[in-house]
Amino acid sequence: MVINRDTKSKKTLLINSFGVPLKIMEEMLDGKARDVPIYISYPLGVMTLAAWCKQELPHHDLQILDLMMELHKAVKRDRIHGTTIEEFISMKLDAVGCAPDFIGLSLNFSNGHSITLKVAEMCKARWPETKIIVGGMHATTFSSHIIVNDSIDFLIRGPGDLSFPQLLTCLENGDDISSVPGIVTGLHNIMNMGQVLYDLDRIPRYPYELLDMDYLMAHESTAPIKKEGARIATIFMSRGCPYPCTYCSASKVHGKKIYFNSIAYMMREIEYLINEYGVNQINIVDDLFGSNKEYFFDFFKEVKRKELKFDLSVPAGLAVSVFNEEMIDTLVDHGLEAVTIPLESGSKYVQQKIIKKRVDIEKALRLLDFTRSRGVFTGVNIVIGSPGETRELMDETFEFLRTAPVDWITFFIAYPYPGTTMTDVLIEKGEISEEKLIEVWDSSTQGFRERPFDTEEISGKELFELVYDYNIKLNFFHNYNIEHGHYDTIVPKLDKIVNNHPWHIVAVACIAKCYHELGMDDLAQEYVNRIPKLVATESLSKQMFETYRQNIEGMIESFAVLPSWSSH
Ligand code: SF4
Repeated sequence: MVINRDTKSKKTLLINSFGVPLKIMEEMLDGKARDVPIYISYPLGVMTLAAWCKQELPHHDLQILDLMMELHKAVKRDRIHGTTIEEFISMKLDAVGCAPDFIGLSLNFSNGHSITLKVAEMCKARWPETKIIVGGMHATTFSSHIIVNDSIDFLIRGPGDLSFPQLLTCLENGDDISSVPGIVTGLHNIMNMGQVLYDLDRIPRYPYELLDMDYLMAHESTAPIKKEGARIATIFMSRGCPYPCTYCSASKVHGKKIYFNSIAYMMREIEYLINEYGVNQINIVDDLFGSNKEYFFDFFKEVKRKELKFDLSVPAGLAVSVFNEEMIDTLVDHGLEAVTIPLESGSKYVQQKIIKKRVDIEKALRLLDFTRSRGVFTGVNIVIGSPGETRELMDETFEFLRTAPVDWITFFIAYPYPGTTMTDVLIEKGEISEEKLIEVWDSSTQGFRERPFDTEEISGKELFELVYDYNIKLNFFHNYNIEHGHYDTIVPKLDKIVNNHPWHIVAVACIAKCYHELGMDDLAQEYVNRIPKLVATESLSKQMFETYRQNIEGMIESFAVLPSWSSH
């Protein structure tokens, strides 16, 4: 790479864009949606580009604008209200100062599609001479709908590690960019693809100093557990995944082959984070963590030999296909306290023929038993509503979960992400169009929001109601720990729910039951007394009471003085 050193100093702004739907963000900034969680994590995409730029383009003044973190600060910390999206973005761009020469805009999440285009348009209107380059997972898998936006000058499809600094160098020197891999300028070269960087050790150290590390370490929110005083950092040590899960597009960016950092590289990075930033919890976010057993054990052997002290979390969970008891034991020895098993379905047919994750359900049950026996709070992820999944198949999963030894079940509604086989099937069947996809991402999420389209098997409304009902029945009224007398295990989780959603009278009734069984009857009665007050004053509590009155009464009637509403 040849850089013309006579070029005057340049300014490059790297923006980590939003990952929340437009409509939900409007509600958040208006102050109406305080309850909605905002997940913030390390913006690894822009951090990687910043690391490369720092090394390859030392004459660039680098700045990172993490819009997700700014949103978190505004909504959760500063309790912002009465602000529009445009006003919010404008405020953040004001803080950038003088015009950047280049903007690298990271667009990873489909829910952020429309807002990110708005960010690009506002940047272009403010700084017409600035070159805007978009990249990331969503930009790669939905590129033809993004590059046509007039505010975007270039799009990088696939990995941007090598292409981004090369592109900036060419633009600075006025060189031809056609040899830079993965650069898309229009529909004519839409199939260009960035070069995969198999030698991950070439990635220079992240310039953490460009981030608000204190805020990120304290508020990182993808880790399944966070102790008081946790200072969390996120790392990955491999990229790529060979599996064909129909709802996932991970391999579209990083490929199907799995490639690793050296263990020496990982040790240097972890030591740096501990020594420089006081990190005490490491979040591992590989596409398929644990895929190479030899590497896995060597890594932890080295952590032990170097006496590196940190707790461990794995937000994407432990893949049943790669983990075994010995590996789980190793994680427990390194501070794993809560984990998810990404099961996705309890139906063998759905596993084999529909989602194609092909989880061995018997092995999953064995691992669930094992992790729980080691004192790890163990949840499963379940996705309901894939095309081809009938009501009977959904109920098969419900029946499986009814007796499965799980501490918590996180339900997701099957959601059409670009670049996935599932979305291709929905489009082929005419159940959704590419244009409608944008509407879906702008108005809903994969969690508890109605999916705004119907399929042959189920309407969006019915699916939402069904998944909501599964959640209430399996996580509360038939909670595995409550049914098996493990009250201590489940109380902290229920407590967290009641703290975050004080109107949740089903959780309140379950806590009351646990305290009663633990011999704390005064406390149990205190929780029971909350229920009629909430039903009288909170519309969500009233709604919940109308639907689940019988179950709530069943949960508390054997021990509590029944409040007056139950005798009417
Ligand atoms: S869901 Fe996980 S296992 Fe399946 S393709 Fe995606 S990264 Fe791989």
